[in-house]
Amino acid sequence: MSKIHDLIIVGAGPAGLSAALYAGRAKLDTVLLEKEKAGGQIVTTDEIENYPGSPQDETGPKLIGRMVEQVSHFGVDLRYEEVTSLELNEKVKKVKTNKGEYEAKAVILATGAVPRKLDVPGEKEFTGRGVSYCATCDAAFYEDLEIYVIGGGDTAVEEAIYLTKFARKVHVVHRRDELRAAKSIQEKAFANEKIDFIWNSVVKEISGEEGVVDRMVLHNRVTGEDTEYLADEDDGIFGVFVQVGYLPATSTFNSSINLDEGGYIKANEELATNVEGVFAAGDIRGKILRQVVTAASDGAVAAIQAEKYIENNF
Ligand code: NAP
Repeated sequence: MSKIHDLIIVGAGPAGLSAALYAGRAKLDTVLLEKEKAGGQIVTTDEIENYPGSPQDETGPKLIGRMVEQVSHFGVDLRYEEVTSLELNEKVKKVKTNKGEYEAKAVILATGAVPRKLDVPGEKEFTGRGVSYCATCDAAFYEDLEIYVIGGGDTAVEEAIYLTKFARKVHVVHRRDELRAAKSIQEKAFANEKIDFIWNSVVKEISGEEGVVDRMVLHNRVTGEDTEYLADEDDGIFGVFVQVGYLPATSTFNSSINLDEGGYIKANEELATNVEGVFAAGDIRGKILRQVVTAASDGAVAAIQAEKYIENNF
C-alpha cells in the first residue's frame, strides 16, 4: 500500500463511471472499485429512452459498455474488488477491499441502491426459484408462463411491459388504485393486452410445494380479503417479480457520514459530504430525481470538486 492515489471512486454505475471519466480527463491518479460488474441498476434495463443522445435501440448494457470504454481510454484503473471497509476521517483515506488496501487523497462514494424486499414469508426462500428482482436477468425463464409484478412505480410498470415479450400473462399487483409510474409508461401498460392490474393489494405470503413458487396469497387493503393465487397445473410455477423501489447501499460506510431519514447520504451542492475529502454521487445521495442522466451529472460534479479539494489541500 505504498502509493497514495489521488482519488478512489467506489461503485462503477453511471455516477462512478462519469466521475471516473472527469477524473481521468483531469489526469487524477484514479482507482475505480466495483464489486460485481460495472453498470449498477441500469444494466438490468432493456430499454433506455431518456438518456440524451442515446440511439433508439439503447439498452443499459450497451450504454455502460461505452462508458467503460471511455474511462479506460482516459487511464482510469477499474478494478473488480469488493470494498469491505472505509476509513475516511483522516486526511489520507484508507479503503480496504477483499483483495487489498488502498490510500487516497479523496473518495467519491457512488455505490447506488439495492432492490427493496417485501419481507414476507417465502420471499427469501424462493428467491431465484420464482421470486426475482430483475426482469432482464430472469425473464427468459418464464417463457409462456404467468408472472406477477409487484409495485406500481416506473420500474415495475416498465418491467411488466418488457416481461410481456416472454410471459403468457403479466399481472401488476399494486398496493393502491393508482400507479406511481410516469403517465407515458402507464399508457403503454394500459394498452398492452397481456397486462392486467390487481389493485389495492399486497403480498402476504409466497410458497411452493416442489421447491418453486406455485402459490401466493394477496391481501386486499380495502376489502380486507385474502386471495390465494395458484399456478396453472400445466405450468407448475409462476414468477413473482418484486419491484418496490430501492434502498441506499450504505452498509460499508462508517457512521461518520451523515445520512438523511431515508438512509441516503447527505451531500451539498458541490456533492461534498460532512467528511472532508469525501463526496457522494448518484442514487446513493438524497436527491429528487434518480436517473442515469442525474447520476452522470453527479459524477461530473463530484470529480471536479474532488479535484479542487485535492489541489487546495495537498
Ligand atoms: P419507486 O418510484 O419508489 O416506486 C416503488 C413502487 O413500489 C411504488 O409504486 C410503491 O407504492 C411500491 N411499494 C413500495 N414498497 C412496497 C411494499 N412494501 N409493498 C408493495 N408495494 C410497495 O421505485 P422505482 O419504480 O424502482 O423507481 C425508482 C426511481 O427510478 C424513481 O425515481 C423512478 O422515477 C426512476 N426510474 C425511472 C425510469 C424511467 O424514467 N424510465 C425507469 C425506472 C426507474 P406507492 O406508489 O403506493 O408508494
